[in-house]
Amino acid sequence: MEIARVAIDVPVDTLFDYLPGPATAADVGRRVLVPFGRTDTVGVLHGFAATEEPFDRKLKPVARVLQDVQPLDDRILRLLDFCARYYHYPLGATVMGALPPRLRRTGALPSKLAKVYALSESGRKRALAQAPARISLQWRILRLLAVEDETGSAPLRALGPGAPAALRRLVTARYVEEKALVAPAVEPAPIIAYPILRPTLTQEQARAVEAICGGDEQYRPWLLHGITGSGKTEVYLRALEQALSQGKQVLYLVPEINLTPQLEAFLRSRAAEARLIPLHSGLGEGDRARNWIAAQRGEADIILGTRLAVFTPIPRLGLIVVDEEHDASFKQQEGLRYSARDVAVMRARQAGIPIVLGSATPALESYAQALAGRYGLLRLNSRPSGRSPAISLVDTGRECLQEGLSATVRKALVDCLDRGEQGLVFINRRGYAPALYCRACRWIAGCPRCSSRLVVHLRDRKLACHGCGHEERLPVACVQCGNQDLAPVGQGTQRVEQFLATEFPRARLLRVDRDSTRGKIVWQGMREEIAAERVDILVGTQMLAKGHDFPKLTLVAVLNADSALFSTDFRAAERLFAQLVQVAGRAGRGSRPGEVLIQTEFPDHPLFQAVLAQDYDRFAQAQLAERRRARFPPFSYQALLRAEATRSGAELDFLERGAAEGRALALDSSVRVYDPVPALRARVAGLDRAQLLVQAEARAKLQAFLHKWCPSLGALAGRKVRWTVDVDPLDL
Ligand code: ADP
Ligand code: ZN
Ligand code: ZN
Repeated sequence: MEIARVAIDVPVDTLFDYLPGPATAADVGRRVLVPFGRTDTVGVLHGFAATEEPFDRKLKPVARVLQDVQPLDDRILRLLDFCARYYHYPLGATVMGALPPRLRRTGALPSKLAKVYALSESGRKRALAQAPARISLQWRILRLLAVEDETGSAPLRALGPGAPAALRRLVTARYVEEKALVAPAVEPAPIIAYPILRPTLTQEQARAVEAICGGDEQYRPWLLHGITGSGKTEVYLRALEQALSQGKQVLYLVPEINLTPQLEAFLRSRAAEARLIPLHSGLGEGDRARNWIAAQRGEADIILGTRLAVFTPIPRLGLIVVDEEHDASFKQQEGLRYSARDVAVMRARQAGIPIVLGSATPALESYAQALAGRYGLLRLNSRPSGRSPAISLVDTGRECLQEGLSATVRKALVDCLDRGEQGLVFINRRGYAPALYCRACRWIAGCPRCSSRLVVHLRDRKLACHGCGHEERLPVACVQCGNQDLAPVGQGTQRVEQFLATEFPRARLLRVDRDSTRGKIVWQGMREEIAAERVDILVGTQMLAKGHDFPKLTLVAVLNADSALFSTDFRAAERLFAQLVQVAGRAGRGSRPGEVLIQTEFPDHPLFQAVLAQDYDRFAQAQLAERRRARFPPFSYQALLRAEATRSGAELDFLERGAAEGRALALDSSVRVYDPVPALRARVAGLDRAQLLVQAEARAKLQAFLHKWCPSLGALAGRKVRWTVDVDPLDL
């Protein structure tokens, strides 16, 4: 007896059993409609299983097989199986989460999907057999399709009022196959017209392209370590062109939606023949489904997307590019907590194809893989333009600051404006000031629902919590003592912008942070403004640090970089280094030389010395040595059990029980279960949060432990505690 096993989006770690009904082996990977609870729900037919036991359970049959989209292929299903197991997340939710939202529900597909019909093998036999005694509508449809394959529904419907129903029956009986033809989502016009000019590759670039494309169709991971502005994009493009010329499809991943429009325009102008589709969460549901289907049907050549695109079915996948591979955005922070970079590597291995991970500041995990010889290391050490920006440190202990800006930075801005060039003031904190302080009683405005301070947003006259979104009116007096002299402490982007506006009244200022760029259109417009040189000084957060290419930008000033130096997170230094190098890399990308000023109280700190020398290798090797000593990743493997609860203490109680259980399970010393601790932000949106770290010497040991441990956690948690397991966590 065969039963159908169906993946359904519920938080239960099992597939659900059904009688096959209309489903056959050819339908594995297809969406099916199955009765679940009181309604029908969409699931994915994961496979069939044989049962020998006589049926005493009351299994219901699969209600319908949805034929409108091709089935998920075996490779994707296996990849999703792997992810569910590796990240310890329910398989059903993993599989359904890989579909674009529109395909997770019943209902019509995006309207631009035209359906076409064709005869199946058995349908053709029927159509060519002798005509039945009574000519039915079904027969007439079969005959029409025998003459004209791939017919749209209009001529078929025109056969009579019963034709749609007859057609449906033929599809169900599998005499007729229904296919969806996809028109990919409408493409926006390129924002910036790129010269179609094809530069001659530098020697380093040529060598990299040759290495990537040279292997004959086999799995080969490459780490492309190229300094900012060294022309990594050109390397990706050339490798991509070669893959396309062999009829392959290419998956190109970038960390942020913000980076896609510029890249999209670039690829469209340079790889003009290729059919490109974007895939990210900023697309409407219809567009996203349409683009996904186009990729699955092999109709898209370049799939350009953010992390979610890593699960797209791509039948002729020939190359994967992961740009800015070190970026934390590749890690999903809820649900299936996957690392798109790691999944991409898995995918490349599975498909037997090359993958390029590119960065100016590779993740130490990737760098260690390259040093160990498991990834090929390709380097681009020079900029085609020949110059790297000159970086210097400004000792804020010796200079007098005005609203966070040193005299050196103010002077450099004056000079930059005099030369008619663009400057960027980088401060990674939005809002006006990070805290509101009462000088009389030392009260500090805090979020009522979190353990965070409230950020002053002067323009909107409000206080906002950047952790949970709580907002309140800016108080006129201290809520504790009534003192009216409340002081905003420290600087955010708005305060710096305000100061610059008074200091440089004639300069055209533009602030770029999450508050000023709500909506995709706004940020696109801003980028056009910058590119058209209608901006003199940019003030912004990390949104400006990544990937952008503004030719006229020659000065970058970094305010307040010190806070990360003393973080308890062992990755803080790596992150700060990457951020400084990235933002410094924005300067002097055009023909004019760049200058970078970094303000710090600790100019002698080794991290700043490494930034100054622009020496990633030195920094990375020192960090790796430290991590090896401390047994931190990549020299160990971690999982974090996070818990939150409203009733204070319940989350810690749960973790204590989980730790005890874990210690009983961890039989040898290679897996270590630490003590539960409150999370870095111990209270968010009214929930108390705590976490428990598990660390193992080997990935396999950690996995073996988690497979024993995780199933016991549900019972320990009870109803009051929400918990998740984060494998390879990035934030501790
Ligand atoms: P990265 O991504 O490594 O920071 P980009 O790929 O953005 O650098 O390239 C930096 C600049 O160098 C771009 O303006 C690009 O057009 C230019 N460039 C890349 N390769 C070459 C080359 N071989 N010759 C001349 N200019 C190049
Ligand atoms: Zn007070
Ligand atoms: Zn809050």
